[in-house]
Amino acid sequence: MVSSDVFQGPLGHLRAHQFSGLLPGPRLIVLGGVHGNEVCGPIAIRRLLGELERGERVVSRGLLTLVPVANPMAAARGTRQGERNLNRRLVPSAHPQDYEDHVANVLCPWLAAHDVLLDLHSFHTAGRPFAMIGPLDNAGPLEPFAHADAETRLAMHLGPTRLVEGWLESYARGVAQRRARDPSLGFETGPAYGVGTTEYMRSQGGYGITLECGQHQDPEAPEVAYRAIGQALALLGLTGDTLMPPAPGFRLLTLADVTDRLHPDDRFARDWSSFDPVASGDPIGTRHDGTVVRAPADGHVVFPNPRAEPGQEWFYFARPGYRAQIPTKSN
Ligand SMILES: [Zn+2]
Repeated sequence: MVSSDVFQGPLGHLRAHQFSGLLPGPRLIVLGGVHGNEVCGPIAIRRLLGELERGERVVSRGLLTLVPVANPMAAARGTRQGERNLNRRLVPSAHPQDYEDHVANVLCPWLAAHDVLLDLHSFHTAGRPFAMIGPLDNAGPLEPFAHADAETRLAMHLGPTRLVEGWLESYARGVAQRRARDPSLGFETGPAYGVGTTEYMRSQGGYGITLECGQHQDPEAPEVAYRAIGQALALLGLTGDTLMPPAPGFRLLTLADVTDRLHPDDRFARDWSSFDPVASGDPIGTRHDGTVVRAPADGHVVFPNPRAEPGQEWFYFARPGYRAQIPTKSN
């Protein structure tokens, strides 16, 4: 019997380039283009690919898999997504409903077959590069994890000195608030909807980092991505790249709360950039009914989106974080 999926499924393919060292070692997968309008990853990966193909670099240990474009439909359109955000609810699906479900069915087994993921992204508004890292080691229900030390060490070697933790927890709190406002909401209000590439990687026993390499059009962003791949290769010992020491000072932020935009007239108090510091009580925005939304404590505004759809994430609030491994600096 031939499933009708065969005829109704999307056209196209995912392409991976794989280099296997002749000595055993860690298995690293590098993704670009999970969001189709973010070109730094594809540019950096293709640059590295050229070097590997010309023999200018050699993978002598372990396994390196390069996926320059993880979402071909979105990349062909130059948009963030094809039919939905690939970096949400990233799980295999027995009954794929949309393009990204089909992509996930190929991509998830690839991720599960590796130990480490480096996922290269860029962002909309101006700002400095940063890395998103996972939780500390824990056996809790939301995101159990056992590789925090290795993941943190990788983050410290990738280049950018801003680290953000707490994504899935703050997302889960946010969707709980959303569901409390409207119990009729569907799957988009479950914590599983917050699972992207790195969360899926951790669920499969690996670890991974989302590296936000700069603004979408910033010519430095592909350089940030390229250097980060080289340092990941060096740290994991896959190539003979020289491992550089971590930068002397990091800033670690813990995502604490997410605030949804509720009405088209909800407005920010000013044009926030990600990581702008705020003091407790500072106005962040004003609701359409005049209610002022204030900073709940001293901290930072993160991922502000002045054009968020009502009911979607408007901004995150983050507090300074602490990990013994990370040499932090104050402002
Ligand atoms: Zn992205």
